[in-house]
Amino acid sequence: MKLIFCLSALLALLLTRIDTAVAQNFDRKDLCSSCKACDDFYQYANEGWLAQHPIPDDHSEWGHWDEIIDRNLDILHQILDNASANVRKGLAQKGSIQQKLGDYYSSAMDTLGRERAGVWPLKAELDRIDQIVTLTDLRKVVSHLHPIGVMVLFEFGSDIDAKNSSRVVASSWQGGLGLPDREYYFKQDSVSKALRDGYLTHVAHLFMLSGRDSIWSFAHARIVLDIETSLARASMALPEQRDPDSTYHDFKINDLVALTPHFSWPDYFKEIGSPGLGEALVGQPQFMHSMDSLLAARSMDDWRAYFKWHLLKSVADKLDARFDRENFRFEQMLYGEKVQLPLWKRRVRATDRALGEALGQEYVKVAFPPEAKSNMLRMIANLREALRADLTTLDWIGEATRKKALDKLNAFVQKIGYPDHWRDYTKLKIDNGPFVLNAFRARKFEFERQLAKIGKPVDRTEWGMTPPTVNAYYNSSMNEIVFPAGILQPPFFDAKSDDGYNYGAIGAIIGHEMTHGFDDEGAKFDAKGNLVNWWAPEDLKRFQEKSQCVVQQFSGFTIEDSIHLKGEQVVGESIADLGGVTLAYNAYMKSLEGQPRLTIDGFTPEQRFFIGWARAWGSNLRPELQRILVFTDFHPVNYFRVIGPLSNFPPFAAAFHCADTDRMVRKAGDRCVIW
Ligand SMILES: [Zn+2]
Repeated sequence: MKLIFCLSALLALLLTRIDTAVAQNFDRKDLCSSCKACDDFYQYANEGWLAQHPIPDDHSEWGHWDEIIDRNLDILHQILDNASANVRKGLAQKGSIQQKLGDYYSSAMDTLGRERAGVWPLKAELDRIDQIVTLTDLRKVVSHLHPIGVMVLFEFGSDIDAKNSSRVVASSWQGGLGLPDREYYFKQDSVSKALRDGYLTHVAHLFMLSGRDSIWSFAHARIVLDIETSLARASMALPEQRDPDSTYHDFKINDLVALTPHFSWPDYFKEIGSPGLGEALVGQPQFMHSMDSLLAARSMDDWRAYFKWHLLKSVADKLDARFDRENFRFEQMLYGEKVQLPLWKRRVRATDRALGEALGQEYVKVAFPPEAKSNMLRMIANLREALRADLTTLDWIGEATRKKALDKLNAFVQKIGYPDHWRDYTKLKIDNGPFVLNAFRARKFEFERQLAKIGKPVDRTEWGMTPPTVNAYYNSSMNEIVFPAGILQPPFFDAKSDDGYNYGAIGAIIGHEMTHGFDDEGAKFDAKGNLVNWWAPEDLKRFQEKSQCVVQQFSGFTIEDSIHLKGEQVVGESIADLGGVTLAYNAYMKSLEGQPRLTIDGFTPEQRFFIGWARAWGSNLRPELQRILVFTDFHPVNYFRVIGPLSNFPPFAAAFHCADTDRMVRKAGDRCVIW
């Protein structure tokens, strides 16, 4: 009862904040009074707001997304504080959701306990690694580390079979790196070199904190970097990882055995608790083959160092303050934050990762009223109609392809807010002991949950994001679009805001996810979610040419004057943005038919639509983060998510009366138009 009371009080607080936001909606001072919309619409729609919202020291960026994330964290914090208090007072039954949330969070916040414990919670793991003498010992350690979330060498889990979406299979993917991507091991510019030096020191420092002397630590940090560089060399580059045809390789057990003579898959399967596995999808067979050669080539002393490093790295932020500080020091090099996020924020996030659907049940009670769902359903229905109209009239596809595309649209599944069935955490034991051990148990629970799905019918009710997540996704194997409650919040989605703004913000995000079903990757999957070509050859050729237009256009964009976006890497997300804006705009225009056209604050409905889109991406970014995003993210940098799509979209130019020669207007022949 007490909990419900507290949540209601919080809800009242939240509603007050929302009201304030609505009353102001967006203020003219958020925009730029001296900018021309047709010159640089990102600046025009965001400059005032960006100037008033500098990046907090503990962040590497700050935009509307971060505001929502922060607001969600406050709500989750309250829920977890209450759960912890209930456990302390003996009000939470052992084994209940309350007890697990309460104990997980309080063990995570127990700074005194973590100082007292030091590195001892890892002792059993470190000893196990120290005892590696043979390749068999090594494999057994891999089989032990993978379930507790330390993904040495490669990633392993389960997935829907891309070519038969009715079954779940074991699946593996390249992995085992400590830097963000393979390119980080080879780039020769001064920033990248400094980062590698910083990485070496970081690895050595964590070794020293675990009890090794500095000579051993620096020598073995070098060995770790060497091993990872070899793995990186064998790794597939990011753009190619997006191509489902390149990454689909169904290996029967005998083929697996032949692929890696020094790593026994049957034994690995037995040791991770799935002895019956007879096959696995292998994302990158060439990587596995190279990894196998490396297993034989390097000494066991080298491998012990490599495993130890990955163990320490995976939990450094959960150990005592020395580890936590060292972990943050390297994070700063990557992302550029000035100070560390407060502990409670990091621990709330960790709890969301470990127990997301337990925490989510409480979150949606506070943050997702039933009206929000009905409003979303209405908007999604309108977007679907806009896509239907588009597919029906598109002039560059033939009738056979058109029919298949419409079949795919008709089969779209939508999930909004939170799952119909909540995950069962009964088998997960959480106590008030060291946080690291709770984290290991939560990871193992998830690993085993993934393996348990193999061979069973696909659970179509499952969600891939937790309810408080500020994000959305399209899943090609399930042909579904999914919107967690976390993103359906002001200013992206506000039941009390005008339709123009909502369609431009959340509407275009809905359209973005729908278009993923038809981007260069999604378009390879049919209505049932199977990787099979449903395109007539000439239509496919035209589609690829149109995608190439997007690749070239985005490759032309630069940050820091000289670092180019990678068109091949961001093409899918950019196609989705182009489609998303187009579909949402068309849906909005249709909804306006027969309605009075309201000018709000001097802006026409069309203008407010485009301002909604541009403000969704308004964000201050540190240069470190911007660089890492260009190198590793499949999305273009926010600035170009505004400039790119709108400069290709004539209704934007019309809404702001731009001249053909203005910067935000591409000439007819230069425009990329797909959906
Ligand atoms: Zn996307």
